[in-house]
Amino acid sequence: MATLFRDQSSETLREHIERGTLLILPIGTTEEHGAHLPVDTDARIAEAYGAALGEALEPDVPALVMDTIRYGYSMKIMTRWPGTIVVRSRVFMDYVFDICRSALEMGFGKLAVLDCHGHHSGPLSTVNRELCDACDTAIAILSPAKLSAQAFNEVRRSGQGGSIHGGEWETSLLLHISPEVVDMDRAVAEPMQYHSDFIAGDNFMGSQRVTWSTWYLQEGESGIYGDPTVASADTGEVIMRAAVEEGARFLKEYCGRA
Ligand SMILES: [Zn+2]
Repeated sequence: MATLFRDQSSETLREHIERGTLLILPIGTTEEHGAHLPVDTDARIAEAYGAALGEALEPDVPALVMDTIRYGYSMKIMTRWPGTIVVRSRVFMDYVFDICRSALEMGFGKLAVLDCHGHHSGPLSTVNRELCDACDTAIAILSPAKLSAQAFNEVRRSGQGGSIHGGEWETSLLLHISPEVVDMDRAVAEPMQYHSDFIAGDNFMGSQRVTWSTWYLQEGESGIYGDPTVASADTGEVIMRAAVEEGARFLKEYCGRA
């Protein structure tokens, strides 16, 4: 079991600060993910990833896992389907900045933000730099999609464009961590049809050579871009294991315990 920030008292937090404990802040969002996945898919992944990472780090790196941020910024185009809550990007950045600054100012020196939603990569990168300026402390931002990309690509069954949004990667992870909320009878394949060397692979894994939103390249019908029909719990387990192993390996380095 991961140790939770919210379960601590002021006194035990003081002890954690003195011990150099790492804080982990999982961030997802609430948005449509097609007919087969719940709208809290990203938040659910963030929460499960945070818990697994916190557990994997102990006892080498003492870690406290904070409550997951469950609402964030999505592009307006996502509101074509019910379920997408949009926090304006500036509001989201200010909110995350204040949570992180509070943690750093109370004395925590190491903070890892888990970025589990594609549209947050830019805002969180800016928040990181703003925190450096304000607190002279560099937080770390980890993406389970990027950290698991290599392992996922070795076992995936979908082709290019099969795992952008609500596709094989996310559906497999949900089948692994929360199969009871996945309705595979409603899963449809709607892979990205447009291919370009500049956005080769599935963009949420960070393999884009240019920034170009795939949401404007194809008129989506289902609310997903990808092929969830080939997803499996086994693939989800591979994804989670890789994201946790690679994430833990990095965080040990980040905390000076590599
Ligand atoms: Zn998602």
